[in-house]
Amino acid sequence: MFESLSERLGGVFERLTKQGALTAEDVKVAMREVRTALLEADVSLPVVRDFVKRVEAKATGAQVTKSISPGQQVVKIVHDEIVAMLSGEEPADTLKIDNPPAPILMVGLQGGGKTTTTAKLARRLKEREKKRVLMASLDIYRPAAMEQLAILGTQIGVDTLPIVAGESAVQIAKRAKTQAAMGGYDVYLLDTAGRLQIDDVLMREVQDVRDAVSPRETLLVVDGLTGQVAVEVAQEFDDKIGVTGVVLTRMDGDGRGGAALSMRATTGKPIRFVGLGEKMDALETFEAERIAGRILG
Ligand code: GDP
Repeated sequence: MFESLSERLGGVFERLTKQGALTAEDVKVAMREVRTALLEADVSLPVVRDFVKRVEAKATGAQVTKSISPGQQVVKIVHDEIVAMLSGEEPADTLKIDNPPAPILMVGLQGGGKTTTTAKLARRLKEREKKRVLMASLDIYRPAAMEQLAILGTQIGVDTLPIVAGESAVQIAKRAKTQAAMGGYDVYLLDTAGRLQIDDVLMREVQDVRDAVSPRETLLVVDGLTGQVAVEVAQEFDDKIGVTGVVLTRMDGDGRGGAALSMRATTGKPIRFVGLGEKMDALETFEAERIAGRILG
């Protein structure tokens, strides 16, 4: 498919056999390859520009050691920089769910994988953290989406709030809150309605829900294969709703995962989990090392 950055740089540095420091000229040539590799991995242009500048500064004058080739050395600098950019101070999967019942708001566009991810996360909290979890669908526009969450709930052994026709999203959220408190649940996950595109009505509704329950975490679920669009969606949701973390879905697809880097660099929001398939156990903690490896090919 793509040529990996190591392969590209191997070619660039072929003629550079003598040991010493990487010259500014060598680095310039190498940076062209880095730039192409990142763009092919779907990292957005402004992020690539900024990234290349930083790597260039680090690589210029770096000592070429005997044990690794100049190409490998540049790859290592690029790799370390990607990891540094993607890593947060806290472990990605540490959700604030003390003080039960803790509300978690799941937001995102329709089709991004929100309902699936809500159930995957519920399963994870139940199995790994032994939490009592309640899920509720607020998608009053699509009865099928409500049904879908209930079916997934049965499948994973997690309770869902009974469906009551005619309620507003805020009413459902409040009922979930009461039910979670009375039923002794540790966490309740609210799967909000998505739209094909961001619109004011959707945003207002999610804001009202947010204000009604004061979520401990607001997780944005976006399709990791949509690249720059995913970043724009994240920016918009963060501006209007306030997002505490991102879940990138469809990372089992054959994209190179560059959206992760653009996402972090542009929005500053940590990526908490990645979706790696349709099955209920296909949700993993975000690992910067893995994405770096993937971007570099
Ligand atoms: P929603 O409209 O945002 O709630 O999206 P859904 O949860 O209904 O997901 C839409 C489709 O994407 C479904 O067919 C899911 O099985 C699929 N899906 C969700 N997450 C992933 C993932 O991480 N990988 C893959 N391959 N498919 C996913």
